[in-house]
Amino acid sequence: MAAKVAPAVPRPELLARIAGRQAERERAGLLRRLRAVEQAQGPRVRVDGRELLAFCSNDYLGLAQHPELIKALQRAADACGVGSTAAHLVVGHHREHAALEEALAEWTGRERALLFSTGYAANLGALQALLDTDDLCVQDKLNHACLLDGARLAGCALKRYPHADVAGAARQLATAPRTAALLASDGVFSMDGDLAPLRELAALAMREQATLMIDDAHGLGVLGPQGAGSVADAELTQTDVPVLMATLGKALGCAGAFVAGPAALIEGLTQFARSWVYSTAMPPALAAAARVAVRLARRDDDRRAHLAALIARFRAGAGQLGLPLAASVTPIQPLRLGDSAAAMRAAAALETCGLLVTAIRPPTVPAGTARLRITLSAAHDAADVDRLLDALAQIVPPLLAGAGDG
Ligand SMILES: *Cc1c(COP(=O)(O)O)cnc(C)c1O
Repeated sequence: MAAKVAPAVPRPELLARIAGRQAERERAGLLRRLRAVEQAQGPRVRVDGRELLAFCSNDYLGLAQHPELIKALQRAADACGVGSTAAHLVVGHHREHAALEEALAEWTGRERALLFSTGYAANLGALQALLDTDDLCVQDKLNHACLLDGARLAGCALKRYPHADVAGAARQLATAPRTAALLASDGVFSMDGDLAPLRELAALAMREQATLMIDDAHGLGVLGPQGAGSVADAELTQTDVPVLMATLGKALGCAGAFVAGPAALIEGLTQFARSWVYSTAMPPALAAAARVAVRLARRDDDRRAHLAALIARFRAGAGQLGLPLAASVTPIQPLRLGDSAAAMRAAAALETCGLLVTAIRPPTVPAGTARLRITLSAAHDAADVDRLLDALAQIVPPLLAGAGDG
């Protein structure tokens, strides 16, 4: 008997489907809009022909346009061109990469470091290389998307615990006491600015014989002695936190990322981290610039002191205004407004005052926690912060008073 021909149910069309989802997102008021910066002078940016003072970059130390970084980039590009031309294991690994890896390892007190082109790739690569399908990865609910995606890519069991809840993490680990396990957390949470309970997590990992991984994208350069990050600030060593990841695109003002830890980890990643093995090495000139950024970030306590003063000024002012401050000591100072429409209205109103602050909405943050993610930079001055506070004083209280009115 001949096989029956399948009924002519039309195959879903992928482009139509994604367009439908986009329309759905637009109806929900959750559409993201891409805007091009035409010019940037530190936090002063021109967007759509207008000068705006930005409080939403991650350039915490104000290094992105530092003349010494620019000079290093130019000089290295003169010497070795723009592209690295290949993956590290082929012919893309330049001595500028090696020198930067050494500088990063030394700074963070790790044996070795390995550069990745982005933090996203670093987390995907590290988790995929370390974890097998029958392993366990335990993560904070508010971890960055790429830590979650790394666990998904690895195919392991992914268990999430309530934000910063060490007992919750312990319960998740206890569900599989004989399974190889990675406990992974942001050091500083990217949308909330608060710190992970690092010492408690380290103690838990030790007790449970799990490996602790910390993503310090927002801590490196900002926290700890010589800006060595949240893990150094918590006085934890490579033994406590064997897998440390951080990025070069935030406080260091460049781009790229690295994983640092014991030699065995780094050697393993060069064999098994697919996002490293099969990806073009970052431009060597960028590595040269990042090495200058490391030097500046390490020695420039004045920048950190200035940033800390701005954070204190903002928090004092916002507190006086009764604004909904978060429990954050970092440059990330979110103001939770609850619903997405309120956050969008606040961002639009700030923009009419010449201020650029992005509204962060679900799914980036949990439903009902839309916010203005305000970030401060050493490139700001006190007058900038005061200008922001003046505008917030006008804009935010009426929105909060109106909350719940639909
Ligand atoms: C930004 C960020 C990343 C991703 O780093 P990129 O270099 O931007 O890809 C990873 N983790 C955290 C916590 C981040 O904030």
